[in-house]
Parts: sequence; structure tokens; C-alpha cells
Amino acid sequence: MIDLKKFEIWFVAGSQHLYGEETLNKVAQHSQQIAAYFNQHKNIPVNVVYKPVVKTPDEIFEVMEAANQAKNCIGLVTWMHTFSPAKMWIRGLNILQKPLLHLHTQFNQNIPWDTIDMDFMNLNQSAHGDREFGFMVSRMRMNRKVVVGFWQDNEVISDINIWSRAAAAWADWQGAKFVRFGDNMRYVAVTDGDKVEAELKFGYSVNTHGVGDLVAVINQITETQINDLVAEYENDYTLSADLLNNSAKKQAIREAAKIELGIKTFLEEGNYKGFTDTFEDLHGMVQLPGIAAQRLMQQGYGFAGEGDWKTAALVRACKVMGAGLPGGNAFMEDYTYHFDPENSLVLGSHMLEVDASLASGKASLEVHPLGIGGKANPVRLVFNVAGGTALNASIIDMGNRFRMIVNEVEAIEPIHDLPNLPVARVLWKPLPDMKTGCAAWIYAGGAHHTAYSQNLTTAHLQDFADIAGIELIKIDKQTTISHLKNELMWNEVFYKIK
Ligand code: MN
Repeated sequence: MIDLKKFEIWFVAGSQHLYGEETLNKVAQHSQQIAAYFNQHKNIPVNVVYKPVVKTPDEIFEVMEAANQAKNCIGLVTWMHTFSPAKMWIRGLNILQKPLLHLHTQFNQNIPWDTIDMDFMNLNQSAHGDREFGFMVSRMRMNRKVVVGFWQDNEVISDINIWSRAAAAWADWQGAKFVRFGDNMRYVAVTDGDKVEAELKFGYSVNTHGVGDLVAVINQITETQINDLVAEYENDYTLSADLLNNSAKKQAIREAAKIELGIKTFLEEGNYKGFTDTFEDLHGMVQLPGIAAQRLMQQGYGFAGEGDWKTAALVRACKVMGAGLPGGNAFMEDYTYHFDPENSLVLGSHMLEVDASLASGKASLEVHPLGIGGKANPVRLVFNVAGGTALNASIIDMGNRFRMIVNEVEAIEPIHDLPNLPVARVLWKPLPDMKTGCAAWIYAGGAHHTAYSQNLTTAHLQDFADIAGIELIKIDKQTTISHLKNELMWNEVFYKIK
């Protein structure tokens, strides 16, 4: 469902006519060589396309205009091999609507001490050429990513990898549709927000459908489709003997399969990239979608419960950023705490809907009552989640702006069996420590719902937030409460002036 190879970033070197044909030919050759190296690199997930060297204000304007128009172009990488007087860039940068990465590199890694002469100096002057360009981008107050280093350097490749993933997720949001079945959970604050502002700021739309519209699609699902999906369940998951011999539970599994097929059909027909539901609005549905949400997330759809459209959209963005990487990206909720002073932990879970892409080992398919909602016993996948570095991310609506909050965490293998807990679960330690991490999250106003990622770092989300032009509060091993509180105060002023 998510294919990063359909996206392109354009490699654009800037120069001017001052140097003569021979130098400009070399600039073009070198740029082609760098773009080709990036394009074939296994750690750059998108295509990198060489564009002819730009030397005049009109050429610059035209490549920016073309980038805006090109559907698959998700961003530009610019580099000034020589010197490109930056007033030439004003008109082009002014219309650029795609993310920008300024690569501050040099064609040669080392200075050729024995042979260096003025011709070499004339060609290899990005050390100052890129500063001229950087001034103009700063003067224009444009967000961009600056990456410094020799172009074959692994860190440079990694920075471009991270940024291109963020740019891909941003492109994926533009024009994306998310559907809400039912409204927000009654009275809940943080899951609500300004959908008009979100569409202006983020480019995706959120619209509702009455649950009846979904139920009508669910009711079109045939017995044959259900048989096939139940067979898939039996093949992919562990089903206890008790479950297979219990006719009520077998019927519940058939209902769950029917719901999954119905939601998937609805999403495909409406070209949606994600959805929300709420246990308070399930008219005509037999059970709350559990396994359906878990499996649809695994297939790449964004999802969050209780009408939380911001988290559903963020989960989708994280899935695009993490496409092809080992590990998963999932809807999550901080559920309950282990306050052992020696080993404090958060147990993350949800009523049912923990993304099956997090499962370590084969998940168990189970049917249990759900304490709320007043519907039939829902089917869910139960599993543990592997340890390792991870993060939780949240986007909240502060009224005058959106804020992203990221908390880096250390996930750990379950320290005990949880025989009576019928949901998938994750255990983690927030950084820098339990008390500081939780306090920082609460001071920042982070939601109880998050996107939980095993394969993204704060760097991905920082690039994404910069492209979106939103605030990012990072909670990591260096966080202190006193600094964080000041940062929140300073940002309050900054965003009022901005
Ligand atoms: Mn919830």
C-alpha cells in the first residue's frame, strides 16, 4: 500500500555564467554523478533525479515551478558547487511549495595538496557558495533542512534518507482523506480540534460518515468473502481449541471478519488513508472493530479510536516515514503504570486496537467481553511487543497552533506473563526517566493517544514538523523540567508573534 519508490526528489545545482563553459560542464557532470549515486543508494528510499544546472533567475524560477507541478516530486535538494548569486533565487524560492534540503557538500572529499591551483578553487567553492544561498533562505524565513558533509559520507546519506522519508509522508498527506465513523468521544478534549485549520496546515481532510453508511457496506459482504478471511485468521493466528468449539465465539469471529471486509471496502471505495471510530456510536454494528482495526493498520491505514483524527493521520504519516524499515508504527495509549522505584514502566495498550505490525511472534486471536459500549464480545489479537528503542509522538491543537510532542522511550520485553489481560500490550520506560518523562509530557499537553514507533527517530519527526511548520517539543535523555518549562513559555511568545 505504501511505495516510496513512486516519489522523486530533484537534485538542483546552482551556478552562474561567470565561469565559462568548461567549468559549467564540470558542475553538470559532478551534479549528475552525485544524483546518480544517491539514486542507486540502498539507504535512500526515493528516486533522486538530476536536473540541469541553473544559472539565471529564469532557470531557477522554472525549475521551482516545475517542481510544484510535478506530482511525484516531493522535494528539492539544492547545492551550490560554485557560487550562485542568491538574488537570482528570490523569485524561485518565493513560489516553492515543496520541501527543501540544502546539501552543503563538496565534490572532492580532501584538498589535493600537491595539485591545488586557482582553477580548482574556482570550481570547488561551495564552502562560500552555499553560504550565499543559505543567507537568502534564512532571509526569506524559509524552513529547510541543512545537511553538511562529503556526499558519500554515511551520515550524509542517513540525513537525506530521514528527510526524504519525512518529505514522502508530507506528500502523502497532501490531499489525503481520513474518514470518521461517528464523532469524537463525548466530552473528550485532546482528541478534538480544528479540522479546518488542520486541512489548511497539513493538507489532509477529515470528514464524517454516519455509522449506518458503513453498516450498509458491511452488510454487502458475502459468506464466501467471510469464509476466506476466517481461513486467513486461522492460518495467521493462534486460535484456542475452546474458541473453535464454541459456536457463539465462532460466530463472533465471522462477524469480526465481516466488519473488517466492510471497513476495507469502504476505505478502498472512498480512497481513504485512514479512519476513526468510537465505541459510543456503533449503531447497527454487532461489535466494536478490534481485529479489523489491528489488521488494517498493519496494512498501512492510519487509525485511532474515539474519533481521534489527529492521531489517525499521524499514525498514517509514521507508516509512510517507516515504510520498508524493520519494526512497526502504531496507534497507542499510555494505559497503566508500574511505579516500582527500581523499575518504573508504562504499560501501553488500547481497548482492542493495538497495531498487529508490532507483534513479536504469532498473535493469539481471542474473543472476550468489552467493559464499555454495550455491544457483543469483540474479537482481538493478543500479543507481546519486542524491546528496543522506540518513541511516542502526539499532535495536539493548542488553539493558535498545532504542537507535536515526541518522547523517546526504551521498550522492554514483558517482565511477567499477563494471563488475564486480553489485549496486546507494550512496556516501556520513558526517557530521561519515568518521572521526568511523564511530567514533561503532561506540561507539554501531550495526548493520551500517540503514534508509537519502533523504527523512526526524533530526527524523522523533527524534519516532518519543520516541513509542516509546526512546533516540536522533544523529550529525550537530555530533558530537564526547568528547561522544558522555559521552552514552553518562550514558544508561547514566539507563536503569538509569528
Ligand atoms: Mn483511547
